[in-house]
Amino acid sequence: PNEWLLYCRAGFEPDLAAEVSARAHETGESGEVVAADPDSGFVRWQTHDAQPANSVHRELPLMSLVFARQSLIAFEPLPLSRDDRISPILNLIKESGWNFESIWHETPDTNDGKSLGRLAKSLSRPLESTLKRGGGLRRKAGGRRLHLFWLSGDSVQVGMSFPGNRSDHPGGVLRLRHPADAPSRSTLKLEEAWHTFVPKDAWESRLHNGMQAVDLGAAPGGWTYQLVRRGMFVYAIDNGPMAPGLMATGQVEHLREDGFVWEPPYRLDWLVCDIVDKPMRVIDMVERWLVKRWCREAIFNLKLPMKKRWEEVQRCLNRLEVTLKAKGVVASIACRHLYHDREEVTVHVRLDG
Ligand code: SAM
Repeated sequence: PNEWLLYCRAGFEPDLAAEVSARAHETGESGEVVAADPDSGFVRWQTHDAQPANSVHRELPLMSLVFARQSLIAFEPLPLSRDDRISPILNLIKESGWNFESIWHETPDTNDGKSLGRLAKSLSRPLESTLKRGGGLRRKAGGRRLHLFWLSGDSVQVGMSFPGNRSDHPGGVLRLRHPADAPSRSTLKLEEAWHTFVPKDAWESRLHNGMQAVDLGAAPGGWTYQLVRRGMFVYAIDNGPMAPGLMATGQVEHLREDGFVWEPPYRLDWLVCDIVDKPMRVIDMVERWLVKRWCREAIFNLKLPMKKRWEEVQRCLNRLEVTLKAKGVVASIACRHLYHDREEVTVHVRLDG
């Protein structure tokens, strides 16, 4: 398979295309974006000279990409006739010699995509049983997963994912339930960020009772709600009002101050920030916090109302990386366009040691 197939939020194809083009170029991979249609919800990158796409897929893992929700190696789209959609798929898999432990039917995260769900469902049983008989679908296959990405009723893209370099959520989308008592919907952004950046087995040691946090631009308190729910004490910095229910927990101190200049009374565990402002202004502020070691970990959003979102994100991340390095601050930085993010991305920084 000579394609690298990536899913994204509809409308972010140009950003993802710019990102994978730049990153693949940097790593010396030879190929190009062959599809990034507006509002399609995916980007296809193809190698030159029909080389396998395994290397680019491995060199640029999903977690190192910002705008991709899922990352697969894939065959070119397979045309299907309405009378027999199954045989061409079976033949392709048979020829490839692929085997896998599970099969996922997926569609682009668009309205057209949603309407294909039923078709995919109707084909899943017959496909599975045939593949089982042929040995393609089996118990021990290194966790590999077959993805059938339905582009339309007569076109499917056959792809494969590997454990450790993929999203384990269908469509690359982590759906979370909005807690009924949370003050705002944006509460899910911080929850998703934790699921994305903090491994489940580290929650106990990194998100626990008695920790101290600051929430810059906290009102009405969706993010503070998450911190409080983990048992933390929170400085909530915002001129706007905080939800009374949150204040009643006694775990929140609300300060009507400017989040860009406020300084903590002592070293905190977490900084979170959801202020709507220029991305570089947020970077400047977070840099100061990290260089002074006022927090151990930070999660903050960069708002991206501009056209060239990838360029802006790259500029910000580069600056952050260069500054921290120059000041001798060792940290891991990751940045993702989360499902609950719209015109923004979420950055996570953790100081090492
Ligand atoms: N994360 C919040 C939640 O889940 O409820 C929503 C935050 S809202 C998107 C942005 C907030 O930043 C607004 O409440 C605004 O008052 C606040 N804000 C804007 N500029 C600020 C500044 N310089 N310092 C502190 N807060 C600021």
